[in-house]
Amino acid sequence: MRLLMHICCAPCANAPVELLRSEGVELTGFWYNPNIHPVTEYRARRDCLREYAKSIALPLVEKDEYGLREFCRAVADKIDSRCASCYEMRLYETAKTAKEQGFDAFTSSLFISPYQNHELMKAVAERAAEKYGVQFYYRDFRPLFFAGQERARALGFYMQKYCGCVFSEEERYLGGGKPHPEGFEPPRRAALEVRRVSDPAAYMPLLLEADPSEERVREYLRNADVYALREGETLLSLAVLVREDAKTVELKNLVTPEAHRGKGYATRLLKALCGTYRQKYERMLVGTTEGNIPFYVKRGFDRYVRTEKDFFLRYPQAVFDGGHRCADLHCYAKDLRKK
Ligand code: SF4
Repeated sequence: MRLLMHICCAPCANAPVELLRSEGVELTGFWYNPNIHPVTEYRARRDCLREYAKSIALPLVEKDEYGLREFCRAVADKIDSRCASCYEMRLYETAKTAKEQGFDAFTSSLFISPYQNHELMKAVAERAAEKYGVQFYYRDFRPLFFAGQERARALGFYMQKYCGCVFSEEERYLGGGKPHPEGFEPPRRAALEVRRVSDPAAYMPLLLEADPSEERVREYLRNADVYALREGETLLSLAVLVREDAKTVELKNLVTPEAHRGKGYATRLLKALCGTYRQKYERMLVGTTEGNIPFYVKRGFDRYVRTEKDFFLRYPQAVFDGGHRCADLHCYAKDLRKK
């Protein structure tokens, strides 16, 4: 069978692709996802798929159109039930392409996702098949989901943090207690989530572990964005950021509760925030003790900016790092435009 598979992303596609090929299906991938925003996210997912397809010699048909306007027009009057329109846009185009290019059938990697409305997608695909006179190859790939995600991580794929559209991105990072739209169910496993903190002063004891000057912490919290990495209600890491100028945001505090240290949570939070702030700023600055310079340099803060002599000696109490008394503050910057 010559099958055209709509592919939403490489992490979702790898397990179904391997399964179908092992069964002798002659597979071609189809990239058409006008629901993925913003442009940087769209390119990251598309380019990851291109590389993956090339690495396994999977033929790929692309309708490479960034579809922000088209998508927003399609869902403007039904934002909280937008997924049906999103499925229609993608699956109808897949059916049409399958018909035009002489494939026997079409399917989609979306059928692996436990977060989508599986039955609704199936109904949409069946209607698309009828409209274009081409077979819809139905397969429930969901049992392969977690194995596919694990393999994607092992292969170093770009792993997206939200479903695709700007609305799902907002829900991912800001939450807000809105009902989940059709088709986007809460994760079954407690997922790690980055959330904005609305009451940062409540975390003062933790913030003081990274910066023991309460006066200074209170000062920067006045104009700060504070984010927490959580698993369910468990706080895993906390970060404080302050705008320095139109191009620069400064990381003022990054701290992980003692029980969760050494597990990479600060790195995960930092990585997520660099992704978010990349939309608005060109660089992220951090001021740190000498002992922590390697941590930041390894995470891309590789541009030396300045040293503030005797900075920590002005603190009301001595500051120690790894048994050494700290004196100078070392400032490094990360270019957010670099991936
Ligand atoms: S949440 Fe996902 S499926 Fe629903 S409209 Fe947005 S991108 Fe499409």
